[in-house]
Amino acid sequence: MNFVVCIKQVPGTTDIKIDPETNTLVREGVPSVINPFDTYALEEGVRLKERCGGKVTAISMGPPQAEEALRETISLGIDEAILISDRAFAGSDTWATSYVLSKAITKIADYDLIICGRQTLDGDTGQVGPGLSEMLGVPFVAYVSKIEEIKEGYLKVQRMVEEGYETMEMSLPAVITVVKEINVPRLPSLRGSMKAKTAQIPVWTAEDISADTDKAGLTGSPTRVVKIFFPQRTHKSEMLQGSTELQVTQLMEKLEEII
Ligand SMILES: Cc1cc2nc3c(=O)[nH]c(=O)nc-3n(C[C@H](O)[C@H](O)[C@H](O)COP(=O)(O)OP(=O)(O)OC[C@H]3O[C@@H](n4cnc5c(N)ncnc54)[C@H](O)[C@@H]3O)c2cc1C
Repeated sequence: MNFVVCIKQVPGTTDIKIDPETNTLVREGVPSVINPFDTYALEEGVRLKERCGGKVTAISMGPPQAEEALRETISLGIDEAILISDRAFAGSDTWATSYVLSKAITKIADYDLIICGRQTLDGDTGQVGPGLSEMLGVPFVAYVSKIEEIKEGYLKVQRMVEEGYETMEMSLPAVITVVKEINVPRLPSLRGSMKAKTAQIPVWTAEDISADTDKAGLTGSPTRVVKIFFPQRTHKSEMLQGSTELQVTQLMEKLEEII
């Protein structure tokens, strides 16, 4: 069976800066990591390959530096990693991202299961998994916490919901997004790290995946980031002094003022 894992490179710091002119993240000089939720997707892809045989491929749509993240996936047991990169993809929203990834997966052609993380740390929408399933016309289940059974054309999973767990069956090929409860990601192996150093990471452009550039990048994105800003801290704190009784009295007086 063949598995495709979608990964995104995200800023590896909380010290995020926004370009006020373009309303986009300043990525230059900012350390990047594989989106933490995608490490569980990668691990599950490798485990499924170990369980069922076949191949696991990692793909990422991003700028050239995303190659670094893809190289890391090889050290974690991924067989092949492909970077989907083209100037025409810059500024893609979740719709355009799903479109580009769906075109790349269509080019891969021979796939049984596509695994995504539940959401990213930066965009944080959780829309790319469902978007992919819609554009590929295959079933989708979100928040998968366990793969119970998998065989040719059939998948049974457990998914997390607010009240507990649900068991879902579906046909393959399909798309799932996974939660961190699904596994404990492994560390890179020495053999994997050696393989990663010399691995070829092919770069597929819009032309390579037959993507319509009007449907990608800013042109193909129905949403626009109008304004990005850090929320202003408006709360203030005040320390109450004295005995507990005195502090309670003071607190009651202050609450009465507010109410
Ligand atoms: C108008 C607009 C402009 C934007 N411009 C830019 C920009 O210039 N540069 C920029 O970096 N971002 C930009 N973004 C953000 C970008 O659109 C989103 O980060 C991207 O579409 C993915 O959405 P998300 O991060 O919410 O992913 P989610 O939907 O939260 O991700 C869920 C899962 O989908 C998979 N996934 C998500 N993104 C990718 C990817 N790129 N490759 C492979 N797998 C993926 C991963 O498995 C991930 O865990 C822009 C967004 C908007 C709305």
